[in-house]
Amino acid sequence: MQDQNRAQKVSDGNPDSIPFRVEKIEVREWWLWVLAVVVTLVLTIGIASFTIPGSNRPAKIYWSDPQDWIRALAALVLLFDLYAVYQHLLLYRIRRQLAEQNLLFRLISENAADMIAVVDRNGRRLYNSPAYQRVLGYSPEELKATWSMQQVHPEDRDRVAEAAKKALLTGRGERLEYRLQHKDGSWRIVESTASTVQSERGEVEKLVIVNRDITDRKKAEERLEYNAFHDSLTNLPNRAFLLRRLARAFALSKRHENYRFALLLIDIDEFKVINDSLGHEAGDEVLIQVGNRLITSLRAIDTVSRTSEAVEGFEDTPSDDTLAKLGGDEFAVLLDDLRHPSDAIRVAERIQEQLRSPFKVREREIVISLTVGIALRTDLCNESQELLRDAEIAMHRAKRAGKGRCEIFDSAMHATAMKRLQVETDVRSGVERNEFRVHYQPIVSLRTGRIAGFEALSRWQRPEGLVMPGEFITVADETGLILPINRRLIREACENLRLWRQRYPSQPPLSMSVNIPPRHFEQPNLAAEIAAILNQTGIEPSGLELEILETVAMGNPETASRVLWELKAVGVRLSIDDFGVGYSALSRLQGLPVNALKIDRSFISNMENEETREIVHTIILLGHRIGLEVVAEGVETEAQLQQIRDFDCDLAQGFYFSKPCDAEATLELLHQGGHFAQAALPTGVANPKKASADEA
Ligand code: C2E
Ligand code: MG
Ligand code: MG
Repeated sequence: MQDQNRAQKVSDGNPDSIPFRVEKIEVREWWLWVLAVVVTLVLTIGIASFTIPGSNRPAKIYWSDPQDWIRALAALVLLFDLYAVYQHLLLYRIRRQLAEQNLLFRLISENAADMIAVVDRNGRRLYNSPAYQRVLGYSPEELKATWSMQQVHPEDRDRVAEAAKKALLTGRGERLEYRLQHKDGSWRIVESTASTVQSERGEVEKLVIVNRDITDRKKAEERLEYNAFHDSLTNLPNRAFLLRRLARAFALSKRHENYRFALLLIDIDEFKVINDSLGHEAGDEVLIQVGNRLITSLRAIDTVSRTSEAVEGFEDTPSDDTLAKLGGDEFAVLLDDLRHPSDAIRVAERIQEQLRSPFKVREREIVISLTVGIALRTDLCNESQELLRDAEIAMHRAKRAGKGRCEIFDSAMHATAMKRLQVETDVRSGVERNEFRVHYQPIVSLRTGRIAGFEALSRWQRPEGLVMPGEFITVADETGLILPINRRLIREACENLRLWRQRYPSQPPLSMSVNIPPRHFEQPNLAAEIAAILNQTGIEPSGLELEILETVAMGNPETASRVLWELKAVGVRLSIDDFGVGYSALSRLQGLPVNALKIDRSFISNMENEETREIVHTIILLGHRIGLEVVAEGVETEAQLQQIRDFDCDLAQGFYFSKPCDAEATLELLHQGGHFAQAALPTGVANPKKASADEA
């Protein structure tokens, strides 16, 4: 029973396990040997009593024939021998199984890619698999000569020792990652799991450690992590990295009242020009050089204008500025642990100063200027995205004021930003609720006095009243909400045009002008979209005129011209809206497929001024010379009408004829004849009969 128990303990209680069976056989063998000794003794004594003279008397007491003795004993010996042979057979089989298992384990451990080690309680090596040599370069002899912690990174030793101690105590090992030194001195990262080998008394005697080399996997993971947080061109931290740093700074500022920080948003002025004129590769080169110079200038600033001594109570202050590249030509600096808001401006000015000297790119000297927007962490701003937005607002403000400037976000900007945010939300819900309407303003031919066509203009019908485009177009354009608004408008305008043409046919037929804002202009499928609307509404392409802002049409010469030609291919007419405010040279229009110019309202309203009048005249003359029709926008008075007619302007649009009005009122206008006699009559004869307007 006791033996059984012992066997059970060693074998972990499994009666089929090899140690258990060996134990059982050994017990039986032991008894067999005892029996063999007794039998042998009896046999020896018996034989002796037969062979020694005078000693055969006692035998007679039991057995009469001595041959009976011999027979019985011989039978016993035979049985014993048979049983011994059987036992040996069993033992032989089990030992063979053990040997096979051993071989298998050896094959597994020796061929495993993982490094397998067995150490005793004191960390002495008992076994190291050949993988050690493959992975770490040490021969078995070299390993034997060292202590098992010797290859472990000094910084990881405590952790490893702690884990080993825990495994010895609890009998269970945990997964662990640490560094092991290769023979060549480099470090490999291993993932290690330990199992324990227990003695008969249940004490942990040995640890079996399986180490897997995960260096390559770790490196790949690190690479991925690095790529996720760095800009591939400049290798600088990227937006995601900056946001993480900002979140840390915000957390810190909540704990320490005196901890201040600021965000500087840095934009290269007119970087597009560099890209467009020298090519993208040169542009990339400039960005890399700017990044490098920013690093150096920040380093210089760090030692010059920053608090050198640690601020009291800020032991955990991550007192390092972060320079990040946010995409495009935008960089950002997180100025950490700021003493005074003015420090941020000083830093910005220093950066601007240091980047002012020319850059050498492909044998050319390039001079750039930087615009900086600064946002300080204040009570108004509680999270990273908000701070980033504030800095952006400050930067846009600085841009508007001119190149190479620096602005700091303030509460007035905050109020504007909040209002803008509100408008954005409202426009979004306006789009969802279909609150946008189309109004039409006639464009009058100055040759015939007739309505030649209309310009379709958006109006936002809110419960509080009609909202004019000035209040929502910019926001809608910046947020992309203009797209659904404008698409609906074009479709509706084309549908109405078809109706009006049917009811009021004229020669040439009425046309429709629609505005194409920057965001719509840059849609890659604009031409196809327009063609589809024309197709669906049954308007021939030349009946639709697309008005494109001067600044957009002349902005990026290559892309703008490509889009214009695509639109031309559809067959629509193209005009340049608000011409004159962008100060483009008329000659630049020559290569573009444009049909008309719309002189900006500001020129028409200011024609009492001699110089402005001259400008209007010149635009009309030069426009005609390059084969363009000219439209005067914002004609409000008879005097203005006379003036442009004297200059031989082709078309006019303005309150003098009609304010923009809804479809119903427009129909009424057409019903009355669509004729403004005064427009075509000689000077002084006019007797304007103004059309009804709904926007008075
Ligand atoms: P725009 O394309 O230059 O349109 C002409 C603007 O001048 C219209 O302003 C019109 O009401 C106004 N106007 C016309 N005649 C006179 C006049 O005699 N005196 C004065 N003071 N103003 C006159 P509105 O409708 O407020 O539109 C302003 C601008 O908003 C438009 O300028 C256009 O750029 C944009 N816009 C309007 N509707 C849309 C639209 O549906 N889509 C897009 N993308 N832009 C639009
Ligand atoms: Mg327009
Ligand atoms: Mg205009």
